[in-house]
Amino acid sequence: MAVPAEDVVIVGGGPAGAATAILLRRQGYGVTLLEKAHLPRPKPCGESLSPEATPLLAKLGVLETLKKGRHGDLAGFMIFPYEDAPFHGSYAARCAGNPVRATGMTIPRMQLDAVLLDAARSSGVTVREGWAVRDVGLWDGHGRQVSGRTSEGDPFALRTLLLVGADGVHSTVAQRLGLSRPSRRLRQVAIVTHMQGVAGMGAYGEMHVSEHGYCGVAPLGGDLANVAIVGPAAKVAEELRSSNDVTRFFRAHLDLYPQLGPRLRNAAIVAGPWTTSGLARRVRRRVDDGLMLVGDAGGYYDPFTGEGMYRGLRSAELAAEVAGTALGQGDTQAPALQRYAAGYRKQFAPKRLVEIIVHEVTIRRPLFEHVSVRLRQRQHLADALIGVTGDFLSPYEVLSPWYLTRLVV
Ligand SMILES: Cc1cc2nc3c(=O)[nH]c(=O)nc-3n(C[C@H](O)[C@H](O)[C@H](O)COP(=O)(O)OP(=O)(O)OC[C@H]3O[C@@H](n4cnc5c(N)ncnc54)[C@H](O)[C@@H]3O)c2cc1C
Repeated sequence: MAVPAEDVVIVGGGPAGAATAILLRRQGYGVTLLEKAHLPRPKPCGESLSPEATPLLAKLGVLETLKKGRHGDLAGFMIFPYEDAPFHGSYAARCAGNPVRATGMTIPRMQLDAVLLDAARSSGVTVREGWAVRDVGLWDGHGRQVSGRTSEGDPFALRTLLLVGADGVHSTVAQRLGLSRPSRRLRQVAIVTHMQGVAGMGAYGEMHVSEHGYCGVAPLGGDLANVAIVGPAAKVAEELRSSNDVTRFFRAHLDLYPQLGPRLRNAAIVAGPWTTSGLARRVRRRVDDGLMLVGDAGGYYDPFTGEGMYRGLRSAELAAEVAGTALGQGDTQAPALQRYAAGYRKQFAPKRLVEIIVHEVTIRRPLFEHVSVRLRQRQHLADALIGVTGDFLSPYEVLSPWYLTRLVV
């Protein structure tokens, strides 16, 4: 048997890939990480980390560095349903005295991803930036082979006992292996910017819902905010075609949110717009022989409640634990990795159900306005919902018949 260049090859240097790399390197394994971009690079994202991500960043050894850079503190979220009055939920209300859970953080992705990738490099991971993976195959029944182009445009091929696909929602690894497909139900486009001078910005993130989609606003410290719109792909594509200018379309779209548009009139776009589409993808399975999918490569639904960065970091933790044992026993075939798939499902399937319910409610205006009245009247219900989206309350808090009944009746 030929000796593989590395025990582990990770494709993708976003939060999920960098975290998996650090955690496996700490266990003593040789890790090579292939990232098609050169960091720092923009990644369209709302840039809000749920409170439960903070201990994971501390565990990865990057929290102090990140706190020295640009960041904001997030007290919770205010939701603006169509033209109705907003309701809000605070993390602190359900943090049970744990100060870590009382706030989330906002961090520009240019900074977060670069700091995590630097930490991977410092921990001994071989990081290859500018290397794009194009194909994936089996390697003699021992593991996997990946091939693609280096930053110089030369072809490369690597063999590994364990391939980790951490290459985001449009994962080449998952698609090459026929493991992922776009959601049939949800096809959305997002446009993300940084804006300076947003009037009336507080410590809460904001989600504004309209007939045209939704707009998220997150404080990034000082008077900088992340402002992102998400809308149905077909509609946005048609409107974009007639506008023929993303920035002009974005500006015009903001005016469709009556409680936000006027506050942004004097705000300047200082970075972006960055666009992305096909946000929701389903995967058939997250492990195969010599293969694991982590982060968005393992599936994604909707940014409205989809705290994908936390899921990326936490799935990295789950994957590294199972992979470490499998590599130690010299067996990285699918059955030895199955515990990761089961752990992932147990942890994230209930939250996915919450994401789907929230999406289905927010797009039905009369229902959403009705539910919003209840959430304004019954603050504990709103706080529970935000605690669940903050990843520190069990999703079953809001999936219980008691909770759902109180929302409607
Ligand atoms: C509009 C929008 C708003 C969002 N808002 C939030 C939010 O506020 N909070 C939150 O937690 N989540 C949010 N998310 C989700 C979040 O951005 C993702 O869940 C998160 O980035 C997933 O991390 P990841 O490491 O799995 O993938 P990514 O961050 O996508 O990283 C994947 C990496 O793989 C690299 N790559 C891709 N293909 C290849 C290849 N073939 N070869 C080599 N490298 C490759 C890419 O360059 C990239 O660096 C949002 C998403 C969208 C679209």
